[in-house]
Amino acid sequence: MLIINESRELNSFLSLFELTGLKVAFVPTMGALHQGHIALIRKANQSGGLVVCSIFINPTQFNKTEDFEKYPVQAESDIDLLKANGCDVVFLPKKEEIYPNGTDYDLPFDPGYLDDIMEGKFRPGHFKGVAQVVYRLLELVQPHELVMGEKDFQQVAVIRKMIADMELGVELVTCRTVREKDGLAMSSRNLLLKADYREKATVIYQSMVECRENLKSMKASQAKKMAIEKIESAGLKPEYFELVDPFTLLSISDEQTKGPVQACVAAWAGNVRLIDNMPVRH
Ligand code: AMP
Repeated sequence: MLIINESRELNSFLSLFELTGLKVAFVPTMGALHQGHIALIRKANQSGGLVVCSIFINPTQFNKTEDFEKYPVQAESDIDLLKANGCDVVFLPKKEEIYPNGTDYDLPFDPGYLDDIMEGKFRPGHFKGVAQVVYRLLELVQPHELVMGEKDFQQVAVIRKMIADMELGVELVTCRTVREKDGLAMSSRNLLLKADYREKATVIYQSMVECRENLKSMKASQAKKMAIEKIESAGLKPEYFELVDPFTLLSISDEQTKGPVQACVAAWAGNVRLIDNMPVRH
């Protein structure tokens, strides 16, 4: 596996690789890798070409400085994990490589209402930062495929819109959420959970499973209320629990008793903010 720090070096390697005519599949990450990230690497490998993974903790997508500062870093074990799981190139850029002219600029892209709901509403500026970094990484890597996790359901929707609106011509491939045995969605942030909250955090998954059952006999608003109460009674602080159309991400009404529904949730487990989602009706 090649370890590349500079975009110049990445560029010259990719120009040579282009001669093979094979595809480049790209997995952007912020490191502290776990089996969820590895599932993306495996998916990227299915394209039969080059697998490039980036590790860059993007400062512009953190709406709180302390969240950025406490984000877990484990570069060495990340590299070992990538090496052992079929990654060909790991790109570890410095901030100056990603933002040579500083971070204070706007992309000609507007996430629209996606910026006003759920993650957009509770983390102002987050998707602007996500779009900024993904756009820049795509510019550097020029992949055929961009592989992202459904764990960040709304992020996928924002990037899908960016690819379409800006005509970026990259195929977006998504990967199912990988969970711990007790259902907690794998996340780099789980490393920050204190033991008692780690146990309590499974309620997020349980609330969605219960909601899936409740939706069979209840109105959406009632199922949602019960899910919020369940999360609260376990000692977590839910920020939102929404039942949305998986294509538009808009909340479903009590009258919409048919069609697919995705539960999307964000909750604080102590001082760690966790997000998750799951289809609760097909
Ligand atoms: P992050 O390092 O958190 O920015 O995540 C990098 C990529 O991994 C994103 O596309 C995430 O959606 C994806 N990812 C994170 N956690 C999981 C998981 N548990 N299962 C599948 N994909 C995930």
